[in-house]
Parts: sequence; C-alpha cells; structure tokens
Amino acid sequence: MIDLRSDTVTQPTAGMRKAMMEAPVGDDVFGDDPTVNRLQAIAAERAGKEAGLFLPTGTQSNLAGLMAHCERGDEYIVGQNAHTYKYEGGGAAVLGSIQPQPLANAADGTIPLDLIAAAIKPDDTHFARTRLLALENTIGGKVLPARYVADATVFAKSKGLGTHLDGARIWNVMAASNAPLAGLCAGFDSVSMCFSKGMGAPAGSVLVGPKALIKRAARWRKMLGGGMRQAGVLAAACLYALDNHLARLRTDHENAAKLAAGLGEIPALKITSQSTNMAFVAVPESDCAPLAAHLKERNVLTLMSPHLRLVTHGDVTGADIAAAVDAFKAFYVRK
Ligand SMILES: *Cc1c(COP(=O)(O)O)cnc(C)c1O
Repeated sequence: MIDLRSDTVTQPTAGMRKAMMEAPVGDDVFGDDPTVNRLQAIAAERAGKEAGLFLPTGTQSNLAGLMAHCERGDEYIVGQNAHTYKYEGGGAAVLGSIQPQPLANAADGTIPLDLIAAAIKPDDTHFARTRLLALENTIGGKVLPARYVADATVFAKSKGLGTHLDGARIWNVMAASNAPLAGLCAGFDSVSMCFSKGMGAPAGSVLVGPKALIKRAARWRKMLGGGMRQAGVLAAACLYALDNHLARLRTDHENAAKLAAGLGEIPALKITSQSTNMAFVAVPESDCAPLAAHLKERNVLTLMSPHLRLVTHGDVTGADIAAAVDAFKAFYVRK
C-alpha cells in the first residue's frame, strides 16, 4: 500500500525497533527511566529550553502545556485552523477550563497581529483573562515566516502574554529552512514536538520550556493519565529518530513536491498548496468516491475529500510517488 493519508502511518524501522529493545529503562513516574531522562534533556538542550517532559501524544503535550500556562477562567488566543483548537476534542476548554479565543488564520497560516491586538481583553471582571498566544508550525504543511514568528512573539510578550508553539512538525520546519531547533523555538516559552509523525516513532511527544512550567505540566500530565512507567522503550524510538530520521525529512519534502508536480498535470485537479511533506489538491466533488475506489484498487490510500491532503513520509519512496501519480492519471484517462 502507498499510504498517503498521513505521516503518522510510518512503521518503526528495524534500527528503531532494535534501539527500543535495547533501551535501559526504569519507572518514569519515579523519574528513574534513564532513556526518558536522556530524551528530555537532549530535546530541551537542542530547543534551547531549560527542561523537557516526555508525553505519549502531541494532544496531551499541548494540553498539559496550555494548562501549565493558563488557569481556570483564563483565555488563549489561537488560530481557527490550529490543531489545539480544532482537532483535540476541545480539551483546553473541557479539561482545562481555558476559554479559546479562535481567530481566522491568514492563507499562510499566520494570525494577523492586528486581530491578536483586538482580541486581547482588558482587565475587567466581564472578560476572561487573556493569558497566552498559541501558534502552530508547520500549519497545514506550511512553514510560518520567520519574521512573523519573531514579530508575533515579541508582540505577545509586550502585552504580557505567554507563548506556546504547537511544533508537532517542527522537524519539517528545520528540514525546509535549515534553521537550528533553538532558533525556531526562541520566541516561545513552551514548545510541543511530536516524534510519531515524519520522525517515525510509534508514539511520543516532548514538551520543552522553563523548569517551573515543565514542573506544572508534569503534574497535569499525571492527572491527564499520562504518567508512564518503563516509557524508555518509547523514548528510545524518539532518540533514534533524532539521530537517524531527521535528515531524511528532506526526501519527504522532495517527494511531496514531485507528487504535486505530477498531479498538477491533470486538468481536472488543482494543487491548492504544496509545502514540506504535504500537498493539498482540489478534487471535483463528484469524482471523490470513484477516484478513491480506483486508487485503492491500485494500492494507493488517501483520505479522499474535495480538499484532499496528501502526506509523504518514510514509507513512501520516489517510485511510490510515480506509481501514485500514474494511478491518478489512469482514472482521468479512463474517465
Ligand atoms: C498530530 C498533531 C498533534 C498531536 O497529535 P497526536 O496524534 O496526539 O500525537 C498536534 N498538533 C499538530 C499540528 C499535529 O499535526
């Protein structure tokens, strides 16, 4: 199967499985797991932050982060399309009693600063307390402009807001821009980073930030059910990914560009955006069901929709991309 549904489908490689098998472990709730401790220290150091916390998922990492920033009755400013707001079950509101203030994302994924300024509430009992700005990078596969990140984080700080980055795919930003991790994280108090997407680990996310914030997040992690025991088995996969899978993200990006170029030759389809390891394709609504069935017959898996997102990853080769493009073309020739 050529699985273009998501980069989360990547299988752990043989080398990763071996690293997991051989990892020294301990009870991480007691702070005894040397592999978890190593991952937390290395992630924090590379991100230029004081401390790190290992969590099973990016959703929990974001939620523990938001809850470490905001108290009950506080508010966080976030994009309408942001994962924390749109795709995490409303956890910040439900479990954190944190009111989201969603704002429209511009086409490049940024939230315009004038919208942010207008959404910050005055100190008045009528209003929730605006406490935090949360951004996402990459967002919809797009790398936020570095200038924007610098301006937005400086502006948030000037207004007394904390800053959180959902950096689930921050690795793809590194691969696309050649920027070091610490530079990409510099404006943010806290950053959440996923290892289970293009990095290819079966699970795992690290939240990095100042010591006091990470200590609060660890308490929330426990309450959210994320205190794990011999979690070094998972942390070993993440450490392995840092050493071995970071460089190959560029191949994913090249493959996504090739995929978009190939599909762009089909008059019925329109590439609406392509960056990092994603391509977005406008598919005529009436083609969706038959196209999905046709592709599946040819071993190409998609999450078919009129706004189709195709994602490349470590288990998709250059030959797979060519085969996938041919499968799309065959549908439109036959039609
Ligand atoms: C995948 C993802 C997350 C977290 O997802 P989990 O499946 O919980 O690990 C958070 N933010 C973004 C932008 C993501 O793509």
